Amino acid sequence: MAYTPMIQQYLKIKADYKDCFLFFRLGDFYEMFFDDAMAASRELEITLTSRDGGGEERIPMCGIPYHSAEGYIKNLVEKGYKVAICEQVEDPKAAKGVVKREVVQLITPGTVMEGGMLEETENNYLASISLFPDNSFVVAYNDLSTGETNVTIIDSGWQALLSELYNRPIKEVVVSTDMDHALQSDLKERLQVTISYQDSTAIPDSLNYLMANLTDERLIESFGRMLNYIQSTQKRSLDHLKPAKEIELKQFMSLDMFSKRNLELTETILRKGKQGSLLWVIDQTVTAMGARMLKKWLERPMLNRARIEERFNLVDGFLEQYFERESTRDILKSIYDLERLSGRVAYGNVNARDLNQLKISLQKIPELKELLMKFQNQRVQALGEEINPLDDLFELLDNSLIEDPPITIKEGGLIKDGFNGQLDDYRDASRNGKKWIAELEQKEKQETNIKSLKIGYNRVFGYYIEVTRANLHLLPEGKYERKQTLTNAERFITPELKEKESLILEAEEKSVDLEYQLFIKIRDQVKEYIPQLQDLADKISRIDVLQGFATISELNDYHRPSFNDHREVNIQEGRHPVVEKVMKNEAFVPNDVSMDKDTNILLITGPNMSGKSTYMRQLALTSIMAQIGCFVPCSTANLPIFDQIFTRIGAADDLVSGQSTFMVEMLEANHAITNASENSLILFDEIGRGTSTYDGMALAQAIIEYLHDHVHAKTLFSTHYHELTTLDQSLKQLKNIHVRAEEYQGKVVFLHQIQDGAADESYGIHVAKLAELPDSLINRANVILNQLESKQTDSADKSNPLDDDQQLSFFINEKKSNQTEKSFKKNDNNLIQNIKSLNLMEMTP
Ligand code: ADP
Repeated sequence: MAYTPMIQQYLKIKADYKDCFLFFRLGDFYEMFFDDAMAASRELEITLTSRDGGGEERIPMCGIPYHSAEGYIKNLVEKGYKVAICEQVEDPKAAKGVVKREVVQLITPGTVMEGGMLEETENNYLASISLFPDNSFVVAYNDLSTGETNVTIIDSGWQALLSELYNRPIKEVVVSTDMDHALQSDLKERLQVTISYQDSTAIPDSLNYLMANLTDERLIESFGRMLNYIQSTQKRSLDHLKPAKEIELKQFMSLDMFSKRNLELTETILRKGKQGSLLWVIDQTVTAMGARMLKKWLERPMLNRARIEERFNLVDGFLEQYFERESTRDILKSIYDLERLSGRVAYGNVNARDLNQLKISLQKIPELKELLMKFQNQRVQALGEEINPLDDLFELLDNSLIEDPPITIKEGGLIKDGFNGQLDDYRDASRNGKKWIAELEQKEKQETNIKSLKIGYNRVFGYYIEVTRANLHLLPEGKYERKQTLTNAERFITPELKEKESLILEAEEKSVDLEYQLFIKIRDQVKEYIPQLQDLADKISRIDVLQGFATISELNDYHRPSFNDHREVNIQEGRHPVVEKVMKNEAFVPNDVSMDKDTNILLITGPNMSGKSTYMRQLALTSIMAQIGCFVPCSTANLPIFDQIFTRIGAADDLVSGQSTFMVEMLEANHAITNASENSLILFDEIGRGTSTYDGMALAQAIIEYLHDHVHAKTLFSTHYHELTTLDQSLKQLKNIHVRAEEYQGKVVFLHQIQDGAADESYGIHVAKLAELPDSLINRANVILNQLESKQTDSADKSNPLDDDQQLSFFINEKKSNQTEKSFKKNDNNLIQNIKSLNLMEMTP
């Protein structure tokens, strides 16, 4: 049996959109059939039904009302699916046979435009990747909601590409159909993106201006792929797309994927949210545009000293004048998202409320401009001078749109009186008509002497005269024509009422039509201003980020750093920007960091939990803050400009990455060692702890020596191998520092203070005591430690400081649990028995 014509139409359209949910418009519903229906009912938790489609079996089907589609689409798109919207494109009444239907838009994770589906303070990127025979990659990424496109060449391999994309709000990646499958799955897995395909890369002449800034053929190809994909999914005007901009990676600090993650710049590793990240601490922006720009700045710290200093100067300007800065913040708060509003104007999905938001925002601009020009700082003044308030556009909107327009643009009530003569005439006609009707009501009351007589209106019968049943006898014969009977009343019309009615309705209809046309015209006029609006949005975002830097500097006591060209690090009373904020009961202990030009490696020792890794991260975060133009948490700082930052810091979720912790550690170490320059910063936290003491320590030492002799990068290296502290005798550029801890009444007290020299004691047993292990166990451990120490001093062979059975690991570093059992077997079976008998449920961590 053959399918019905409608199902045949469905199947034909669906064949072109195999990888999408096809939302098939059927009256007031979007319906899904076959596999789509089953998948959608699962994903959206909606009821699966079936329908007869002419075939042998009933067809699975599920549907959603068209007016509530947005929520369902959002749900699917957030899960990484694509949705093709298939509408009826002819009037069903006029259709012969099946109504014509077409896909009018494809909504994909990377091309979402609808306000409700976008995160306000986040960009939403679609990326495209092209591979070239010389092994370079080009990535283009576009935010359709703001019109921004960036294109970047990456010649240093696949890992570098992943690092570039990692942590950016990229939702979808477009590649060619013949891209290597292993690479595709790597992308999917590492970046959690939807993969889409586009092979055509030719840019139509009409869009040539978008690639005006691109010189390299490779850039154009990748951009072309993206543009073709956008066009094929959106099927409409893209007038708000800004010309693509090339980002030259060498202008910015490079942070690899591991470091972006480990340093928790924009999100934390465990909770995957902004809270607890550096961004969370320093974000004092008040507009969505500013918040998005801050995130972009944070992802690309700069290398150009003049540009960084320029930002500092502006922050200084805002910092100097508290009241003006607060007023600036107040004005900014009332400015809507101009960037996304102009995107929607171009896209054709703005309503009068959106334009009203635009008007309210523009109204504030002259005030903002004036305020900025009142600052003493000339650079802040200049920011004000550069602002173009777009008076004409404001006037257009102010003269045309009413204050509180409805959402719908098709039912009138949008345009002010006095804006258009014809519209005023229609409105007069309708208002006069209504006045005439009010007068008629009075007249009829008097003539009939019926006080309760009234004239009303409904959609079906139009205007009518209503008389209650009790008064019917008062009506004269002949004049009134009966129209409708109610329980207690009768409704009538008269010829003169009928005539007036058609005049009023005609005027109203015409006025609604005209309003719609006027609205479209206004929208098109606004479209002409898109480039200026985008420029304005850009300036306002900048002002917002910079005032935010000033605000946070004052709130958190940050200071302007200075830079040097001779690789010196000198921070007085530095703090960790995030840790100091999340500490509840204690105060954060500030520490200095001092590395002159001949000190490249700081070897940091000290007990667990004393603050080693906090100290290391503090330097990286401080440098990143400085290089985005933000002031830093310290009393003074003089810093080099770091070209790259590398980190190997144990992360809580290493285990889930599928590789052994130790392998991850070695990969990250290798990455740093091979890519760092002498202008880089390396943080290695307890390298080697993932393997047995001997090879761990051997590797740690070899890595330090290699860094010392070949890399010369500024390096902070924390370790629990005390044996390494003697390296300062052979390695001239290495300095020992340690975190001070003190014993107080037999317990260890962490002071979190950094001091010169090596730590001279291990506090493992004290930590065990703090953890309230039984006294007998602690005593036994002390005895073993003494034995081991005396053995070690007896040992003649200094190049082999530890014998296999001398491992201190359990008490020195509780993290090395994989070694514990081995050492216990050799050392003391009783101890194992003691530990096994512990009641873990009654102990604190
Ligand atoms: P380590 O790397 O030595 O094991 P961490 O750097 O992880 O230690 O620090 C452990 C905890 O100590 C931190 O979570 C923090 O609460 C606290 N801490 C670290 N540094 C400081 C400091 N300078 N002032 C106050 N508390 C600190």
